[in-house]
Amino acid sequence: MKITKAVLTALLLGTAGVVVCMASGTSGESKKEPGWVKNIPAEKIIEWRRHIHQNPELSYEEMFTSEYVSSILESFGNIEVTWPTPTSVIGILRGDKPGSTVAFRADMDALPVPEETGLPFSSQTEGVSHACGHDVHTAMLLGTAATLSSIKDQVKGTVYFIFQHAEEQSPGGARDIIETGVLNDVDAFFGLHIGPGRLPGLIGILPAGPASTASDGFYLTIQGKGSHGSMPQMGVDPIVTGAEIVTALQTIVSRNVTPGEMAVITVGKFQSGNAPNVIPDRALLAGTVRTVSETTRKLIEGRIRTVIDNIANANGATYSLEYASGYPAMENDPGLCILAKASAIKILGSDMVFDAPRMTASEDFARYKEIAPECYLSLSTGPGVANHHPAFNPDESSFINGVKAEVQIILDYLNSR
Ligand code: MN
Repeated sequence: MKITKAVLTALLLGTAGVVVCMASGTSGESKKEPGWVKNIPAEKIIEWRRHIHQNPELSYEEMFTSEYVSSILESFGNIEVTWPTPTSVIGILRGDKPGSTVAFRADMDALPVPEETGLPFSSQTEGVSHACGHDVHTAMLLGTAATLSSIKDQVKGTVYFIFQHAEEQSPGGARDIIETGVLNDVDAFFGLHIGPGRLPGLIGILPAGPASTASDGFYLTIQGKGSHGSMPQMGVDPIVTGAEIVTALQTIVSRNVTPGEMAVITVGKFQSGNAPNVIPDRALLAGTVRTVSETTRKLIEGRIRTVIDNIANANGATYSLEYASGYPAMENDPGLCILAKASAIKILGSDMVFDAPRMTASEDFARYKEIAPECYLSLSTGPGVANHHPAFNPDESSFINGVKAEVQIILDYLNSR
């Protein structure tokens, strides 16, 4: 990716010109807006989104949604539709000019959250709803595919529209799709998540480098030997063993991780015993680990295993440990971030683009970095409750800006190569 400071400055200055023109309402406005904007099927996008919203499906069960997406992609006439897994769909648009391959990813799954929005198009499936907004991601990417398919003659290279299953449930759908090998030719991955908090329609560029956290967990059973509370010499106390382990685990971040490197270890569960005068025979512990670098992530797993093994042995206890690796951290590519920001500013104006902070949540979009550089963005959907809340209700007027940004980013990426 080659975007010099001079190019970026030129883009920014160009945008200022557009904003002035639009504000003054001169005829220059329509001249500056790219022709493809009028091809965005704005009403269809709302219609698709509402239909998907009304028919939410849990992770790995996206039968209706994938069929629906596939049929819409087919209707565009020039998009090749493939099914890498039973409930995921990839649309491939081959532009008329040769070039690189870029992928944009939307996730399609819903959550086991009962909907409380009161919307006329609320979920018709009890206990399941699109509380994370993946219905919006899907509808917007369909809009992007429709728009780009209408200007295939201007597309320099190949575009993969990834409609991914099972983002919400580890190990996640991204891994399944990657393992099929269908994405091996992709040169760059982009993705976008909606969320509340700012004015509707603002595009947030997540930071270069770690843009979300890796989320791992561990489940530990300490097997001691029960005894009378007054006769500890006859038993092996799993509570004392567990307490030593909890305390020692807290030295990993303070003594082993490089200062300044983000890392969290929390033991959120410690269950053992029933009575003050009984030494129980086992203790159950569980914890979560958050990191942003693979080196630290591996270091912490190794130290947790060593600490538990040695303290259990020293106390004469046995144990079983399950270490659950979740999603890795996203790694936003600096060059792609610069490009995405310039593209969003070019099409929406600099007042509609902001630098978003790193996500504290995890995202399996992170896995695509195994193949090629990646960049993740956010779209603000107005005030309201957070994602995953039963009343999560994004402002539909924001969607058009998401589509504009997606199209512009894809075009600019392919033209930059
Ligand atoms: Mn999500």
